[in-house]
Amino acid sequence: MSITTKNIIVEKAETSKIDQIDFDNLAFGSVFTDHMLVCDYKNGAWETPKIVPYQSITLDPSSKIFHYGQSIFEGMKAYKDENEDVFLFRPLDNCKRLNISAKRMAIPELPEEHFMDGLITLLQLDEAFIPKKSGSSLYIRPFVFASGKGFHASPADEYKFIIACAPSGSYFSGKVKVLIEETYSRSANGGVGYAKAGGNYAGQFYPTQLAVDKGYSQVIWTDDTDHEYIEEAGAMNIFIRIGDTLITGPTSDRILDGITRKSILEIAKDQGISTEVRKISVTEVVEAAKNGSLKEMFGAGTAAVISPIATFGHQGTDYDLPELENDYAGKLKKIITDIQYNKAKDPYGWRFKVSK
Ligand SMILES: *Cc1c(COP(=O)(O)O)cnc(C)c1O
Repeated sequence: MSITTKNIIVEKAETSKIDQIDFDNLAFGSVFTDHMLVCDYKNGAWETPKIVPYQSITLDPSSKIFHYGQSIFEGMKAYKDENEDVFLFRPLDNCKRLNISAKRMAIPELPEEHFMDGLITLLQLDEAFIPKKSGSSLYIRPFVFASGKGFHASPADEYKFIIACAPSGSYFSGKVKVLIEETYSRSANGGVGYAKAGGNYAGQFYPTQLAVDKGYSQVIWTDDTDHEYIEEAGAMNIFIRIGDTLITGPTSDRILDGITRKSILEIAKDQGISTEVRKISVTEVVEAAKNGSLKEMFGAGTAAVISPIATFGHQGTDYDLPELENDYAGKLKKIITDIQYNKAKDPYGWRFKVSK
């Protein structure tokens, strides 16, 4: 059956996979919903988005994505509350950021209504896949890549925008041990670190593997010039608490403008927590660890929300963070997830209801 709503063409799956999903044992991002959104860019314009049964895609071997890595993505979630109403969190910010990434990678920008109407229609169709269990959610992966053909190293003339969704359990990794990176860099001035461009993550895998071989689970990225300023934690923004002040680096070419990061900054201020957005050096953090004023370090991003760090390694020495009873990480995570799951008032207007 093919119906059209809000300028979205919908081709429904004939059978559902929902019975095959074990909602009590969901891993992260490894099983998918019945449908996906596909929107093609051809002849200089984005065409009408289509929702089709979730399926593999066929590409020409010369498609530019394979050779030049022209691809970008977003990461977001849909949450169900106790009444089974469905919510997104600041979705327009994801749409805006996708277009910031698109511009940097010479990918044509996507109309906001294709993104929002497509996403909402897809969520309404696959609503049964959004887990009900608190802490679980539907992970949403919008992405755009160069499907156009040709070995010439230039922007493609055709692109595909796809949204695929994966019901996911809570992303709790436990407290992690991280290594401050001193050789490799994630990003550089004038580079693409602020974009969610596919190759940024491929470039992180090898240094991360080296850190894993040494017994760490993640890398703390530092500036590409001297490896002296702390920038991000894996694919998350990073917060450092010294004394009672919560510090994070300023966004830049090298530090991605995370939606979780900016939400945490606003919530922390409203909670009376002193915050500072400034460069923070490795020396300052090591000194604070030595004199006992370093209280917390945590990563911040959509997948894990807040991921507390237990230990960091630097130049062969491991520094443990204290176990705190009333940590900022736990407090801030509760406030932000209560807003996301419609368990608390949302004075910020961040929650976005996906109406039925
Ligand atoms: C996606 C991402 C983040 C977190 O952004 P959110 O909008 O909070 O999910 C931080 N750093 C990097 C490098 C990222 O790719």
